[in-house]
Amino acid sequence: MKEIIKGITWLLGQGLDCNVFIIESKDEKLMIDSGLGGGVTSAFGTNVNSSKILNKVIIEKKIENIFLTHSHIDHVGGVLSLQDKYDFNIITSEIEAQHLETGDSAYIEPFLGSKCPPLKVSKKLKEGAILEVGDFSFEVLLTPGHTHGSCSLWESNKKILISGDTVFPQGSFGRTDLRTGNSKDLISSLNRLSKLEVKILLPGHMPPIISLSKSTTNSIKESLQNARIMLANY
Ligand SMILES: [Zn+2]
Ligand SMILES: [Zn+2]
Repeated sequence: MKEIIKGITWLLGQGLDCNVFIIESKDEKLMIDSGLGGGVTSAFGTNVNSSKILNKVIIEKKIENIFLTHSHIDHVGGVLSLQDKYDFNIITSEIEAQHLETGDSAYIEPFLGSKCPPLKVSKKLKEGAILEVGDFSFEVLLTPGHTHGSCSLWESNKKILISGDTVFPQGSFGRTDLRTGNSKDLISSLNRLSKLEVKILLPGHMPPIISLSKSTTNSIKESLQNARIMLANY
């Protein structure tokens, strides 16, 4: 685990796992996404190591709130496998919540359609909802395209964007060929994110960008340009 900036630690996604971030203040903690976990077999395999680490993190840090950027297995597998062991609140967009609460396996694990248990969602968020952790105040931005309910979190004072699988560093972006994926929506979402003055980008995969000199926004603009070219025919 690595502290990126004061109050935010990063658990590197192992293999096809997603990145997991923990935002903490003196009294509150919020975990972002949960990796592949060890409970559900998927086309990506299972990642027992990450499940063990998550187990430890959840116990040691006493995490009660977990925000999911969307419902794909590489982001929700950890909580699916740990939900019977620990008591935590799941927070996500109301659109993604529908798939999690019904255990919509074909949506959550679209590659093998492995059976996924339903997951109770405690808070179902709409566009503009605010998640506060100490002096961090994250606004929920609905950024559809990778899936129809994918969301990002934006901290406008500290210029931090948590982008799930919508935008990645190095001009990359999330795939749009899975269920409810939509290339036009993804381009609109990238366009929206490229207008923010992002300094710290915490993506669902690949290492975060922490730009102190040059704006990270340039990287998002590059993703937008690439998506406009590569998705033009979809
Ligand atoms: Zn995904
Ligand atoms: Zn992912």
